[in-house]
Amino acid sequence: MEFRDLKRQYLINKEAIDCGIQQVVNLTHFIQGQQVRDLEEVLAAFVGRKHCISCANGTDALQLALMALNVKGGDAVFVPDFTFFSSGEVVSTVGATPVFVDVDQDTYNIDCVKLERMITRVINEGKITPKVIIAVDLFGQPADYETIQLIAKKYNLFIIEDGAQGFGGQAVGDKVCSFGDIATTSFFPAKPLGCYGDGGAVFTDNDEWAELVLSYRVHGKGANKYDNVRIGMNSRLDTLQAAILLAKFDVFINRELDASNTIARLYTKLLEGVAKTPIIKNGYVSSWAQYTIQLENNKQRDGLQNFLKEQGIPTAVYYQKPMHRQLAFQTVIYHDDDYEVSNRLSETVLSLPFHPYLGDDEVKMITTQIKEFAIGE
Ligand SMILES: *Cc1c(COP(=O)(O)O)cnc(C)c1O
Repeated sequence: MEFRDLKRQYLINKEAIDCGIQQVVNLTHFIQGQQVRDLEEVLAAFVGRKHCISCANGTDALQLALMALNVKGGDAVFVPDFTFFSSGEVVSTVGATPVFVDVDQDTYNIDCVKLERMITRVINEGKITPKVIIAVDLFGQPADYETIQLIAKKYNLFIIEDGAQGFGGQAVGDKVCSFGDIATTSFFPAKPLGCYGDGGAVFTDNDEWAELVLSYRVHGKGANKYDNVRIGMNSRLDTLQAAILLAKFDVFINRELDASNTIARLYTKLLEGVAKTPIIKNGYVSSWAQYTIQLENNKQRDGLQNFLKEQGIPTAVYYQKPMHRQLAFQTVIYHDDDYEVSNRLSETVLSLPFHPYLGDDEVKMITTQIKEFAIGE
C-alpha cells in the first residue's frame, strides 16, 4: 500500500495526461509555452482572482509574494509554528524575522488569540516592525481568514495565504487562494493538485503586485528578460508541468475533491471513539492534503506507527519538529512555553494513507488495524 498512490491516479487518467505531455514535446515550447498561460487563466478563474502567476515551486511562490510586498530586514512576519519549513524559511530568505505563533489544536491552523498577543508583544518590544501575517491552510483546511482579516486591519498588516496544502478547499463559499492580499500554492506531486515535478503559483487581485511578481519571476525583467530593472529569480513553471496540471485539473475538480471528502468521512466514521479525528469547521471544505489523527501521547503515537508499518501500512508524522525548535531558526530567541499546542501535536499526530483513489476496503482494513492496536494497548 502507498501513502499517496500517484501511480493509481496516473493509470486512471493516463490518456489525458499522456496526450498533454505529447503535445508539449511535439511543439517543443518547453519554457513559457501556451499551456502555462492557459493554466494560469484556468486557475485564476477557478479561485476567483484577477491574476495567477505560475512559478517553479511553492517555496518560490511565497518568496515572490514577500518580495512583491517589499518585506525586508527589520520586518516581522507572523507564521504558524506548526507547518512545513518553507512557510518560515522564505521570511529569513528575504532578510526579515519570522515570529512563530502557536496553532489551534482542532484545526492545526494559526491561533488568532495568540496571534494578536504576539503582534502586541513585538510592538511593545519595539525591535522589529510587524508587516505580514502568513496564514497556512494546513492539511487542506483554510485558516480562519475572517478573524485574521480583522487583526490585519487593526495592526495594518498584509496577509499572505500559504495555500500549498489547501488548493481546492473552501471557507464560507470562497476558495483557497482567494484569501489575503496575495495567496500562494504548490504543485509538488503529493499536494492536492500535484504535477510531475516541482511547481507553484501566486494569486492576487492587485495589478501592481502582479507586475512585480512577473518581473521577479524572470530575473527582475523590465521591458524584456535582457532588460533587468531589479534583482529577481529564475522561477518559471515548465510547460510540461502546466500541460500535466491542465490534464489533471478537470478530474481534480470533477471527481477527486468529492472522492477525498467521501473517503475522509468514512475514516472519521470508522475511527469514532478510537482516536481524535480531523475537525472541519462549519462552512469549511478541506481538500485533504492529509488525513491526520491525534493519539493520547508520544508513546502511543510511535507505537501505532510501528504497528501499522509491520502490517504494511505506511503513515507519516507531519510535523516532527515545530518551527521554533528548528536549528535553522535559532538565530532568533523563541520561548518554548509559547508553543504548548504545537509542541504537543508534534508528539501526537499521525497522518494516515490518503488519496482520492483509496478504496473503501482499504480504509476499512487500515481502521481495523488501528482498532486492533488500540485493543492490544
Ligand atoms: C509544500 C509546502 C510548501 C512548499 O512548496 P514546495 O512546492 O515544496 O516548494 C509551502 N508551504 C506549505 C504549507 C507546504 O506544505
